[in-house]
Amino acid sequence: MDDYLKTSGRIFDIQRFSVHDGPGIRTIVFFKGCYLRCRWCCNPEGQEFFPQELTMNGKTKTVGRDITVEEILDIVEKDRIYYKRSGGGLTISGGECLGQADFARDLLRGAKERGINTAIESTGFAPWEKIEPLIPYLDVYLMDIKHMDSAKHKSFTSQPNELILENARKIAKNFKKLIVRTPVIPTFNDTEDEIRAIARYAKSIGVEEMHLLPYHRLGKDKYYGLGRTYSLEEIEPPSKEKMNALLDVVLQEGLKGQKGG
Ligand code: SF4
Repeated sequence: MDDYLKTSGRIFDIQRFSVHDGPGIRTIVFFKGCYLRCRWCCNPEGQEFFPQELTMNGKTKTVGRDITVEEILDIVEKDRIYYKRSGGGLTISGGECLGQADFARDLLRGAKERGINTAIESTGFAPWEKIEPLIPYLDVYLMDIKHMDSAKHKSFTSQPNELILENARKIAKNFKKLIVRTPVIPTFNDTEDEIRAIARYAKSIGVEEMHLLPYHRLGKDKYYGLGRTYSLEEIEPPSKEKMNALLDVVLQEGLKGQKGG
């Protein structure tokens, strides 16, 4: 057996039949651990690298388990027929997959060697040396750019944005299929000026496509289930009209735009 198939990493979920995280029907593998702490994060159980207890509806379960590349590929392979028909494949999400970059590289390599389309959802907050080895095995890089103002970025995510913006520039230069995704969070980045600034940066580095993801509260109960509080309790999701207006801004800046997935 190829050694890289034995590479082990830590995940907190695998979801089959997703249509929101890259083209077609996909299997999503959620890596555990992230360097950011976005206040709106809908997967708070993916933020810590260590396993945790999560209590939901009176039941407690452990989130976080170790698994090999080969074990994941055996699951991913089950839906090959759907990938073929829909143009789908494997997406690595999280958490932040660059926190386990060798594991991500080996999983992407395994998928490519089996002829499976590959994508990652990643905010790019990692040294370039961790990103570059993934690129030969990637079909789509779905990259979050959340705000152009570094201080505001840090106040809502715990980290500044310079490294993210620089990595976006390098990824776009080395790899054509970079799609920028921006979660639209009221009180953080939901003005036309803020979205326009991100769209202009994306366009300036050669990106062709930008997706806007409306804030939602689906992860709220998980914060309490982890013994944490949810700091955006007062925030309402953006209206359809607001999302349409922001999508118009993306289109005006010459990008292909999309709301939702
Ligand atoms: S980068 Fe993604 S996974 Fe990490 S805290 Fe932010 S929203 Fe959550």
